[in-house]
Amino acid sequence: MKYRDLNLQTQREAPNNARTEGFSFLVRAGYLTRENVPTKLGEHTLDHLRDLSNDASFLSHLSLPTIGNEDETFFPITSGSIEVAHCPACKYTERLELARFAKTPLPKEEELPLEKVLTPDCHTIEALANFLGVPKEKTAKALMYTRLSDNQFIFVIVRGNMQLSEAKLKQHVGDIRPATAEEIEKSGAAAGYASPIGLKETLIVVDDLIPQSQNLVAGANETGYHLKNTNYGRDYSAEIITDLVQAQAGDTCSNCGNPLSVLSAISLATRKEYRFENVLLALAETYHDTKGLTLPRPAAPFDVYLMHLPGKEVDTRAKAEEIYKTLQSAGISVLFDDRDERAGVKFNDADLIGCPVRITVGEKGLKEGMVELKPRKEKDNRLMSLTSLTSLTSSAAFWDLIKDQ
Ligand SMILES: [Zn+2]
Repeated sequence: MKYRDLNLQTQREAPNNARTEGFSFLVRAGYLTRENVPTKLGEHTLDHLRDLSNDASFLSHLSLPTIGNEDETFFPITSGSIEVAHCPACKYTERLELARFAKTPLPKEEELPLEKVLTPDCHTIEALANFLGVPKEKTAKALMYTRLSDNQFIFVIVRGNMQLSEAKLKQHVGDIRPATAEEIEKSGAAAGYASPIGLKETLIVVDDLIPQSQNLVAGANETGYHLKNTNYGRDYSAEIITDLVQAQAGDTCSNCGNPLSVLSAISLATRKEYRFENVLLALAETYHDTKGLTLPRPAAPFDVYLMHLPGKEVDTRAKAEEIYKTLQSAGISVLFDDRDERAGVKFNDADLIGCPVRITVGEKGLKEGMVELKPRKEKDNRLMSLTSLTSLTSSAAFWDLIKDQ
């Protein structure tokens, strides 16, 4: 393809909305607009990645620092909108809302008798724990939902110091919505002062730590009152006991016992599909230097950035056109910068766009039958004879030639 056909627009400055260096270079090199929409070059690159993905191990060929599990592959990035729990030791990785972790029960206690206490204005676990002078882990947090499929009222309990993961709850009960005040009242519960004790027609679901936690403070189902010393089994029981709470950074990995990290990430692939836009961002984030992108050979949209330096005596552009055709017929993909621009402008663009090899056709070299060749990741130019280029018959021969030099 030719530079002009792609309507390429590179930019000197990083866009001011860039949250990461990779995104910044994709915009500056003309792959994306500032609004994160692929340009012609971007679309061409995404098509190229799509072609590559016919090979099932395509992601691993790109050598990206991914994390993942059997269902999904993630790329950690600060601008990512997905939170992922990850164990650096054993590599366990899961979306945070579904991540498992090892819970530590409190020391076992003797069950004490129920005691109703006045707790005015204690609508939150925080306020309740402060008012009664008990730690939050000695309280039972109540959450109430209604199942969409059959309007079943669902009462959920987790320990007061933990957060319910609705995603985990849904895995067991199906789709839900928050219960209305009317539905709560009908069950016999009191909003803000609710417990599962004595409720009617209620599906009770508790976190698996609850049966191991004695003497928890819970609502008395009477506004303004709580019960001290509620105990699972003695005072109420549940239809479902399972892991319901969300992991946090520092929680213990249930596989290996080391602390879990929580990372922001984007998803590159699920069992069903790849997310090629995200793969492109991950590539840019991983492969760049201070001048631009340094894409690895399989991922780059073109193998070669070919350019001519306008000459005084020799028609360098015509020679470059010849090389362009030869390389293409040998199966090497070429981006031909056929503009009559200054060398500096073209070199900058070549560095930004990040094709693995730059070939420069200049007057001085041509007089000696040579062109300049520069691998993107190397510092120096090399000279290469024009005949060795124009006699190429395959892409493999081209890469061999570059390696041998
Ligand atoms: Zn682990």
